[in-house]
Amino acid sequence: MRLDDLRSVLDGLVGKTIRCDCGRSHNVHTRSVTIEPGAVARVPDLVERYFPQGKLLVVADPNTQAAAGNAVMDRLASKFQADLHLLGAEGDIPVGDETYVAAVRERLKQGYVAALAVGSGTINDLVKLAAEQVGLPYGVVCTAASMNGYTSSIAAIYVDMLKRTLPATPPVWVVADLDVLSAAPQEMTVAGLADLMSKPSSSSDWRSASLILGEYYCDYCADLSGMAEAACRAEAQAIGKGKAEGVALLVAGLILSGLSMAIAGSSSPASGGEHLISHVWDMRRLHEGKPHALHGAQAGLGTLMTASLWELLQTVPRPEEARIQEIITARRPQEEEEADLMERLGPLAEASLAEYRRKRPDDQELRRRLEWLRDNWGEFWAAVKPLLRKSSELRDTLEEAGAPVTAREIGFTPEETEAAFRDARYVRSRYTVFDLAADLGVLEEFVAPALERSRVLE
Ligand SMILES: [Zn+2]
Ligand SMILES: [Zn+2]
Repeated sequence: MRLDDLRSVLDGLVGKTIRCDCGRSHNVHTRSVTIEPGAVARVPDLVERYFPQGKLLVVADPNTQAAAGNAVMDRLASKFQADLHLLGAEGDIPVGDETYVAAVRERLKQGYVAALAVGSGTINDLVKLAAEQVGLPYGVVCTAASMNGYTSSIAAIYVDMLKRTLPATPPVWVVADLDVLSAAPQEMTVAGLADLMSKPSSSSDWRSASLILGEYYCDYCADLSGMAEAACRAEAQAIGKGKAEGVALLVAGLILSGLSMAIAGSSSPASGGEHLISHVWDMRRLHEGKPHALHGAQAGLGTLMTASLWELLQTVPRPEEARIQEIITARRPQEEEEADLMERLGPLAEASLAEYRRKRPDDQELRRRLEWLRDNWGEFWAAVKPLLRKSSELRDTLEEAGAPVTAREIGFTPEETEAAFRDARYVRSRYTVFDLAADLGVLEEFVAPALERSRVLE
């Protein structure tokens, strides 16, 4: 599947309502996606066509202002009233937290009719959430093909030190100017590819949750993010070299992957346990007042680790009655487990425990899950295995593109990496491979072999 194919899939989606076999109607809020060189020139037309008449607020940081913000302001100047809201002082990069959201939100209340985000992950999420809070539409001019959140219906924001994904309406339009994206730092482009490569891990988690817990799952949404992943995986080398065709394919894939989350109504099609590893890294570093690495780069390494855990889980025998009894008996009481977590998670503990309690099964529920697995072991793996990719193959793809494959390359110590792997399970109520491993009573014993197999500590 090449760029033209991805484009036609995107064209078939934007602004449409799709009646799906999953039983839901998927409504695609985003009305227009423009991917071409010089696409910034299209901004005035999009404003005219999709925004109400009135004053616009353009949000950027000093870096994205230089990359595209000034060009956007110039294009708007002759026809529209637009103000630039600059986040973060020179050299200071804004963080996706409540303070920044509030700053954009309060500014938007001052008579604006729509917002324009000029940036990548953080700026897009800040504007998406602030616009949602005041009920205004927004559009985005992408400045890097670095992650797949542009078109998603969530914003990843820190609330009380815990990184949360909050629901927020996707942009009305997206402009991906290939001149701007090709000029972005190479590490951002390869991070975007790495973010997409988490699909096998996230889909497997999502499918497992649907099979074991009966949660909602949609094949169509999973397939959309799968198309994006497969197309970009095949061109990993071209993407890594920053070639224009490679970057075009990548940003189309990222936008498609984001849409798959938007129409699924959750980040599940593209975010599972591997993203929780990334969130733990983010939160730890935020608390220490140190920068973390790029989201996509972290998610890529997380994927190597969760793919390895999935491989180990395939060696576990079907849980028979004696084993089920053994797992339940060996289980630590909730108070003891929580006391240990309070100590281990430190500043993340309180908010994490609230999340973890929402999914921690009581003994009866654990028995139900294990009995279901006992009775459906073959069917379970028949459904999940085709979604998975081997950790070694994923690593090859990342290496082909020149993306990081070790924690050292992105500045994390082995201790921080192991802690992120161990703690990922507790920071979000979402059911992932970590919960499956814990339910099967093997998570603890698989920590060291999974890390070794992933080779991220080399
Ligand atoms: Zn569906
Ligand atoms: Zn991601």
